[in-house]
Amino acid sequence: TRHLLGRIEAQQSLGAFLHVDAEAALAGARAADAQRAAGQAGPLTGVPIAHKDIFVTRGAPTTAGSKMLAGYASPFDATVVARLNAAGTVSLGKLNCDEFAMGSANENSAYFAAHNPWDATRVPGGSSGGSATAVAARLLPAATGTDTGGSIRQPASFTGITGIKPTYGVCSRYGMIAFASSLDQAGPMARSAEDCALLLGAMSGFDERDATSAQRPPQDFHAQMLTPREGASASQPLAGLRIGLPREFFPEGLSSDVDAAVRGALAELQKLGATLVDVSLPRTQLSIPVYYIIAPAEASSNLSRFDGVKFGHRAQQYTDLLDMYKKSRAEGFGPEVKRRIMIGTYVLSHGYYDAYYLQAQKLRRMIADDFQACFRQCDVIAGPVAPTVAWALHAQDADPLQAYLADIFTLPASLAGLPGMSLPAGFGEGGMPVGLQLIGNYFAEGTLLHTAHALQ
Ligand code: GLN
Repeated sequence: TRHLLGRIEAQQSLGAFLHVDAEAALAGARAADAQRAAGQAGPLTGVPIAHKDIFVTRGAPTTAGSKMLAGYASPFDATVVARLNAAGTVSLGKLNCDEFAMGSANENSAYFAAHNPWDATRVPGGSSGGSATAVAARLLPAATGTDTGGSIRQPASFTGITGIKPTYGVCSRYGMIAFASSLDQAGPMARSAEDCALLLGAMSGFDERDATSAQRPPQDFHAQMLTPREGASASQPLAGLRIGLPREFFPEGLSSDVDAAVRGALAELQKLGATLVDVSLPRTQLSIPVYYIIAPAEASSNLSRFDGVKFGHRAQQYTDLLDMYKKSRAEGFGPEVKRRIMIGTYVLSHGYYDAYYLQAQKLRRMIADDFQACFRQCDVIAGPVAPTVAWALHAQDADPLQAYLADIFTLPASLAGLPGMSLPAGFGEGGMPVGLQLIGNYFAEGTLLHTAHALQ
């Protein structure tokens, strides 16, 4: 813990952390030492981690990357945080992220951008950019992230680390500041599938405080990751595994370096015994408009709680209550958040609801059905995580829609509520990392982790 606190201090310019609490971390590490001495250590006892600043934490400030929540102190821990604490992890602080997790580059943080450790002139991806930067720069062995439309997988891909977004409902959303509730999922970001499996095991499980929490017995993802497949051998651990390649995930416009790295990783999976099958997800392109209607719609509703009354920023000067609401929100929210509130309010408004929101919900169902058709032909779906490697800082300042389009390969699994994973595939343009995405059927996290572990 002391070593990593030193690294964090030395690498401050990467912008990974919004808050570091050295004293609390060292106290946590000492408590872990005592537990180990008492013979009560588990696999995560004393492991230094940090949380994306979208999880509320008692004792450390929580901002969600927004000025709206500057100085906010939560009276309770998010379930994910509480469970990792109980497993013995030591939290070093809070990690930078896009404001309310809206973004793909961490440049929407109201505080400062995070930088990609592979090339500090580039973005680390987002919205869990601080988590990705911290793990990739070896400031931490692992971190928590959240993924609404790709925010664990895309930054993992951009920084050459491993991350998994489990099936919707596997991790509790209690205490995770809501962006789009029907899509938000927590997950681990770490150096390997094995570390992700250990973290996910501790983070997940039914929680009566989250109405959409999946009612299942606790899962040992690490054991699932290690369980050999039927008919597998030491040299062919993936024998019998059918990996589906949706043709829509390899379009003309896919950057050739990404295509080559992903195909290289797929060839390795074949050597391990997997077979590749062509499949189709015909509505892949539609996932962009569908997501950018549903997510802002839910966001506009979720963010209505920030009115300057109960918590968060309150304007200093105002004439009456309405003026106080307006000024507090105008001052507290950044431009991307305001854009989404306006889009969301519009698509939910009388006269437009049927044309946009309802239509998007229907298509969302069809996108989920398309996946089920694929899973009749394969066990796992694979493809790129993003169409390019990490782009330069400020590259998309003038046109925020560019970032929306780059979410094309992560949005479909999010809309369907399926588990998705990013693991290093190779390198592309400028020596930047390229991720391989694996998508599984509902609750098939074990299969994803097993496949990734075989490759790693
Ligand atoms: N890039 C997507 C967005 O901006 C996804 C963000 C996320 O998963 N939190 O909405």
